[in-house]
Amino acid sequence: MDQVAPLIDPFARPITYLRVSVTDRCDFRCVYCMAEHMQFLPKADLLTLEELDRLCSAFVGLGVRKLRITGGEPLVRRGIMGFFRAMSRHLGAGLDELTLTTNGSQLARHAAALADCGVRRVNVSLDTLNPDRFAAITRWGRLPQVMEGIAAARAAGLRVKINTVALKGVNEAELFDLVRWCGDEGHDLTFIEVMPMGDLGLDAVGGAGDGGRLDQYWPLSDLRARLAERFDLIDLTERSGGPARYVRLAQTGQKIGFITPLTHNFCESCNRVRVTCTGELFMCLGQEDNADLRAPLRASPDDTALRQTIRAAIARKPRGHDFDYSRQRVSGQMSRHMSHTGG
Ligand code: SAM
Ligand code: SF4
Repeated sequence: MDQVAPLIDPFARPITYLRVSVTDRCDFRCVYCMAEHMQFLPKADLLTLEELDRLCSAFVGLGVRKLRITGGEPLVRRGIMGFFRAMSRHLGAGLDELTLTTNGSQLARHAAALADCGVRRVNVSLDTLNPDRFAAITRWGRLPQVMEGIAAARAAGLRVKINTVALKGVNEAELFDLVRWCGDEGHDLTFIEVMPMGDLGLDAVGGAGDGGRLDQYWPLSDLRARLAERFDLIDLTERSGGPARYVRLAQTGQKIGFITPLTHNFCESCNRVRVTCTGELFMCLGQEDNADLRAPLRASPDDTALRQTIRAAIARKPRGHDFDYSRQRVSGQMSRHMSHTGG
C-alpha cells in the first residue's frame, strides 16, 4: 500500500523527479563550484552504490518517473556504470527517464555503455569554446577531452544538452558563438544564472573588479535581451517543472533554455527533490531543511522506515525558495556547495 500511494506535497504537487548526487568528488575544480583544494567527505559518509540503489528504487516505488544522476562528477565514481545498469531495470517499470549531468570528461569512455543502459539524453556542462578560458574556469579541465566526450555521446545516439553558466565578462562575448555551435551540432542549449554558492574568483579569467562572484553575475534577462537583438525569440509554454524557461529562435529553430534559480518563477510547479551523496534529502534547492535518509537505510535492510522518512519529508516541502544575494553576504546562508547537493 505504502509503495503505491504517490508522493504529493502539501501544495498538491506530485513529486516525480529525483536528482541524486552520487559523489562530491570531481576531476575539475570550476571556480564557481569548488575551491581548488577542496576537502572531500570521508568515503564512509557516502552512500554505497547498494544504498543508492535502494534509495532510488524506493523513490521509483513512490512514483518518481525521472531520475537524474549528478555530483560532483558522477562518472568519476568507481563502479558507477554498474549502478546505471542496475537502475535501467526500472525503465518502463515506473521510471520514464534515466539521465545524468556531467562535465563530459569521462564520456568518451562511457557513452556507449550509458546508451546501452537506456540513457537517451545527457546534460553536459560547457561554459566556453575557448581552450584557455575553459582551463581557467575549470582549473583542471581540458577542452579537447570534453569535446571528444560530446562527440562520443552523439555517436552513441545520445541527445546532448549543453548547460552554460552565464558569466559576465568571462563568456559574455561568446554568446553567439555558443549558440551557433550548438545549432550546427544539433545540441540544445541552456544558460544558467550563476548561483551564490561556493567560492568564485574569476578575476584571473577576465572577470572585472575584486568582489568575486557578484562581479561575474550576468542576469539572464540581460543575456536574453542580447539574443533578441539578433534573433526573434518565440516563448515556449513547455515547462519542465523546474526552473528552466525556453524560447525558440525563429531564424534557426533552436531551443534555448534559461535557468534563473534566483527568481521564484518556478516554485509553483516544482516537482523535484534532491538527495546528496550522503543521503540528505533536500526538498527545496533554496532552503536548508533536509531529512537524513542514510540513517534509515543503514538501520535496517527493510525499506519501511526509509519510505516513512521520505513521506514525512515531502510533507514538509516548502512552497518556494528564498535566494537573496544581500542576505548571503550578511549571514552566509546557503553555503552548501552545488557539488554536494548536486546541481
Ligand atoms: N560535474 C557535473 C557537471 O559539471 O555537469 C555535475 C555536477 S555540477 C554541480 C551541475 C551543474 O551545476 C553544472 O552545470 C554546473 O555548471 C552548475 N553549477 C555549479 N556551481 C554553480 C553555481 N555556483 N551557479 C550556477 N550553476 C552552478
Ligand atoms: Fe566539477 Fe561540475 Fe562542480 Fe565543475 S561544476 S567542479 S565539473 S562538479
